[in-house]
Amino acid sequence: MKRTIAIYPGSFDPPTLGHFNIVERALKIFKKVIIAVAENTSKQALFTFEERVGLLKKIYKGSKSVEIDHFHGLLVNYAKKKKAKVILRGLRTVADYEYELQMSFTNKNLFPELETIFLMTENRLSHISSTLIKEIAYFGGACENMVHPQIAESIYQKIQEKHKK
Ligand code: ADP
Repeated sequence: MKRTIAIYPGSFDPPTLGHFNIVERALKIFKKVIIAVAENTSKQALFTFEERVGLLKKIYKGSKSVEIDHFHGLLVNYAKKKKAKVILRGLRTVADYEYELQMSFTNKNLFPELETIFLMTENRLSHISSTLIKEIAYFGGACENMVHPQIAESIYQKIQEKHKK
């Protein structure tokens, strides 16, 4: 599989240590991981997709095996454009499993050659979710143990800006 490219799609709003751990472990299996930030997310976004791409690019600056990109519309169309046949996703909970199962079936229906590969979260990172981080930071809590320090800084700044409005 070391010849294969995997696309890791998601909201990454914000990117967390859980996400980075999935990428790091996936690189032992795949030759390259493309982190693809979804432009169209139904979740309440803290950062614009351009900002999320910017945050990820800073973290992976200089890496030859991690590419940062974004996509609009159907993931299967993006995968075809990138000539990739593997989607990488992480699993934490039973709730994740149900959602991911449905998504992978749907994508396979739309593009039968596409395989979704799941990596289980690491126990120490299983509680980390972008949604919870946003809530914690919004109410003044610390999230440094869940995100990269540079990203924690950007989260606090962004929340301050939002509070001012
Ligand atoms: P989406 O909105 O597409 O679910 P997310 O950014 O929330 O995007 O998550 C992207 C992927 O990363 C999902 O497969 C999710 O299950 C996985 N993921 C998120 N947090 C973790 C974590 N702490 N450990 C493992 N996988 C995770």
